[in-house]
Amino acid sequence: MPKYIPEPFKIKVVEPLTMTTREEREQYLKEANYNLFALKSDYVYIDMLSDSGSGAMSDSQWAGMMRGDESYAGARGYYRLVDAVRDIFGYRYVQPVHQGRAAEKILYPCFLKEGQFSVANMHFDTTRGHVALCNATPKDIVVPEARDTENYAPFKGNMNIPALRAFIEEVGPEKVGVIVMTITNNTAGGQPVSMENIRETSKVAKEYGIPMVIDAARFAENAYFIKMREPGYADKSIIEITREAFSYADAFTMSAKKDAIVNIGGLIGVKEDEELFTKVQGLTVPYEGFITYGGLAGRDLEALAIGLYEGIELDYLRYRIGQVEYLGDVLREAGIPIQYPVGGHAIFIDAKKLLPHIPYYQFPGQALAIELYREAGIRGCDIGSYMLDPDPVTGEQPEAELEFTRLCLPRRVYTQAHLDVVAEALINIKKRAHEIKGYEIVWQPKVLRHFTAKLRPIE
Ligand SMILES: *Cc1c(COP(=O)(O)O)cnc(C)c1O
Repeated sequence: MPKYIPEPFKIKVVEPLTMTTREEREQYLKEANYNLFALKSDYVYIDMLSDSGSGAMSDSQWAGMMRGDESYAGARGYYRLVDAVRDIFGYRYVQPVHQGRAAEKILYPCFLKEGQFSVANMHFDTTRGHVALCNATPKDIVVPEARDTENYAPFKGNMNIPALRAFIEEVGPEKVGVIVMTITNNTAGGQPVSMENIRETSKVAKEYGIPMVIDAARFAENAYFIKMREPGYADKSIIEITREAFSYADAFTMSAKKDAIVNIGGLIGVKEDEELFTKVQGLTVPYEGFITYGGLAGRDLEALAIGLYEGIELDYLRYRIGQVEYLGDVLREAGIPIQYPVGGHAIFIDAKKLLPHIPYYQFPGQALAIELYREAGIRGCDIGSYMLDPDPVTGEQPEAELEFTRLCLPRRVYTQAHLDVVAEALINIKKRAHEIKGYEIVWQPKVLRHFTAKLRPIE
């Protein structure tokens, strides 16, 4: 029987959820044109659309919000945050910003010139966007195991080191402006990266004189996987593992809306390069505001400084990753095809396997996400062909390599019973999977269509 790791907290504040009927949900789906981003969250029972900014803050964090110093310059929370980042990551320089992409907007132009490459294990989509805004090209060099959804590998998020070397040799080191390590590897399904791989990547970066940046959104979950899975790290604390991992890089960007368990916030860390940090501060002022608040309220800085420590607590991480593993195990036992092993923050259901009769151009991942909402008011999203915009020239629909429905787990929000509702809904859907229909798009914008497109079921 799959094991659930009990919550290392109790509940002090509750947020009531709306229970809807199937008929109501059918109506809401129609009104939303079968686009789950267009649903009011009040109509959603269990929201697994994203784990970003959707976590529950602790009583300490809320107390910190009250203590927040709203001084324009030199606020107390800023100094607390700087101390926390120095302690946890071992970096000298810290710049708060309003979220992860703001960190990218500021840091990437410091490294990338027109015509250069940014090479990563995998770029997250906003990172990819900011590389492109520098007129540079993002290049993903992940290990081949990342694309294997069935066989166990401990670190499917790793950089493919020989391929990284080969790429640098091919284009020339002067053409590679930055090497990026995304931990955990979000685009590969929240799969972790090993310490050995971070170390080896850093060696390559140093050898060629290329700066290395960590995209640190899920640094704590990654450290937990290292502790659990990598030889030599079982007895190390999460903070020790984090310090070692970050010692190999030169800078980091972080969306604090993930592992730092705040609803808004981001960070830039610079290990020791004073000149680089001066540039970062110079860009922060016009983009984000004065350096001691960086686009955040003073109270947010306090909550973030506290959240960074809560996010690296071992009991919390055991429960957190345990939740994802629990849901994954229940689904696997029921024969629901999912990406295995599960990553740190989400379950990826293989919609192509569950709905083999729906071709990619009728969006199996989206069809399953819609069906989950119809069945039980659960909101997930498509990570498959529906997410891929048509070719701008030919208008042709590209086929995604994998058709997933992603279910993210917000931090400290849902209970075991909620997860059981999710599993039960999927088991019911599996029984009538052959009846589920595909969808067609009736309207779409030019880019990033999945957020706003309108669809209808194919009869
Ligand atoms: C969420 C995320 C970002 C972007 O951060 P925002 O806070 O959403 O702007 C960047 N990289 C990774 C890996 C992320 O998960």
